[in-house]
Amino acid sequence: MKQEPVLIRKIWQHDMHHFKVEWSDGVTNCYRLSDLQRRCPCAGCVELRQKSANSATKGHVDENIRCINLSSVGRYALRIQFTSGCSNGIYSYDMLRALSKNFATCEQGDCQ
Ligand SMILES: [Zn+2]
Repeated sequence: MKQEPVLIRKIWQHDMHHFKVEWSDGVTNCYRLSDLQRRCPCAGCVELRQKSANSATKGHVDENIRCINLSSVGRYALRIQFTSGCSNGIYSYDMLRALSKNFATCEQGDCQ
């Protein structure tokens, strides 16, 4: 049986630094904006990360970064405009779902 692609049912700002997504399969995930920016999939950031992996610097992302706007791109991706840093990244739902496995979620008590 072909699996239905998972869509976003609901998305909302949890607090200044987190937003939550409720997926069409009932799963709810919480994302920290700084974690997402750190994984920005745009070409510029990918290159920057490759370079900084060779140096001692630990990225350029502000932990307290916030978002100005969240908008969907097509049916399967999200664009996030941050208060600083890069807003060019398109975060596909697939990527968000995969990332959520590595993120602390509210259910685990880490999201305050
Ligand atoms: Zn970027």
